[in-house]
Amino acid sequence: MAGTVYLVGAGPGDPDLMTRRALDLIASADAILYDRLIPRGALDGARPDADLRYVGKDPGGGSISQEEIEDQLVELAEAGLSVVRLKGGDPFVFGRGGEEAQALAAAGVPFEVVPGVTAGVAAPAYAGIPVTHRDEASAVAFITGHEDPGKPGSALDWGALAAFPGTLVFYMGVRNLEGIARSLIDAGRPESEPAAVVAHGTLPEQRVVAGTLADIAERAVAAELTAPAVTVVGPVAGLRETLAWIERRPLFGRSVVVTRAREQSSTLARRLMGLGAAVVEAPAIRIVPHESEELDRAVEGIERYALVCLTSPNGVRLFAEALMRRGRDARALAGAKVATIGPGTAEALAGFGIGADVVPERSVAEALVEELEPVPVEGRPVLIARAAEARDVLPDALRERGAHVDAVALYETVAEPLPERAIDAAARADYVTFTSSSTVRFFVDALARAGTPFPSEARVVSIGPVTSSTAHELGLDVHVEAARHDIDGLVEALLEDANQAAPA
Ligand code: SAH
Repeated sequence: MAGTVYLVGAGPGDPDLMTRRALDLIASADAILYDRLIPRGALDGARPDADLRYVGKDPGGGSISQEEIEDQLVELAEAGLSVVRLKGGDPFVFGRGGEEAQALAAAGVPFEVVPGVTAGVAAPAYAGIPVTHRDEASAVAFITGHEDPGKPGSALDWGALAAFPGTLVFYMGVRNLEGIARSLIDAGRPESEPAAVVAHGTLPEQRVVAGTLADIAERAVAAELTAPAVTVVGPVAGLRETLAWIERRPLFGRSVVVTRAREQSSTLARRLMGLGAAVVEAPAIRIVPHESEELDRAVEGIERYALVCLTSPNGVRLFAEALMRRGRDARALAGAKVATIGPGTAEALAGFGIGADVVPERSVAEALVEELEPVPVEGRPVLIARAAEARDVLPDALRERGAHVDAVALYETVAEPLPERAIDAAARADYVTFTSSSTVRFFVDALARAGTPFPSEARVVSIGPVTSSTAHELGLDVHVEAARHDIDGLVEALLEDANQAAPA
């Protein structure tokens, strides 16, 4: 039986504007044929074994033809595969989705259409321009600005467009902007009509140039706007003066490097994006779970520990998994005191249904040692489940107090090779965030191996004193240190710093 082809819109660029249906289909597809203008990370959720094919237009030419794309869709579906055809914005708005649907219909291949948020609505919205407005525009027209209006036989009826009683939104209009503006004016649209160009709409790099039909082309050239961009013509373009909002987000225009492991970077990355930052994900480390006989023994005899110490959210996750894999669960810790090194670890533990008994104010082993003073450990078994490379402050101190300490490694932190584009972006960043000593070490190392100096203009943000001291050891200045040693604390500290200095 033939598989289904899904013609899916991926939205205008902000990954958060992808629909739930699009994400579900990407996650289950056997094959995905995608274009150039899809959101960053749009394919992150694809299956590792999915056949991912780039079929976009190369700006330098040499791209695959429309006919070939249609042939591939039919072929894959006829092989019984579930195929996603992923396009920027909406598949039926200047996306040739209609043609592809026709080809599928002709071949008898079942297909479905998943609308997406189209750039012509979303980019203006992110620029503070409603495409319709009660007082200013009761209609909106979407127009392809791809054509050179000077070309004989232009398909666009400029007289009709100039007379259109509402907002005009041109797609693909940067290069032809001057011709478009001139043609509208010549056909009777007032020179004084407000107009705005929104480039890279909905993205952290969004830029907007506003003016009138008379000067918009000149202004866009002066501002060196680059594609993709849409141009809005109509009184609504003037509303931006009061309605612009994205530029007012506290981290708009700042780029921030996130160095934590990929599996963990998303919370921090999303928080920063929500505040308007351009996030550069540069996961310098990877967590490799560590299975060992010591771990087997510890879990086997888990009930006998008087105290269990966990030192990182990764540790909690892997410890919980180690318990479950051996048929145990949270109840095995019923008789023990449970200590964590900081609030992030305590939060991870809460997710596992366990409230931490001990969480020190400062997230360093020394503070945990102090905090554990009232807990009787002499002659008792204590489990410390941690990273292979952890410092020995905690086990040493507890042994000194007469505890029988089992220090078990749950995972190892290893270097993750950074893609070139992450290194390039990091080199130009405004902020670099470090959430552990290993992120500092491995990130500095990755840059050194790539022959890229540490970004000298960047401000270094550290989650706490241990991370900061590692940074100092490696010759970095630490400009911002979180007062609370978790992700919220780090974001708060970064925001405060950003508020003090206006963007360059
Ligand atoms: N199907 C898409 C449009 C594809 S045509 C949609 O519904 O949005 C490509 C054109 O869309 C670009 O030339 C540009 O005019 C516009 N476009 C796409 N992404 C954009 C963005 N992030 N900001 C501004 N314009 C964008």
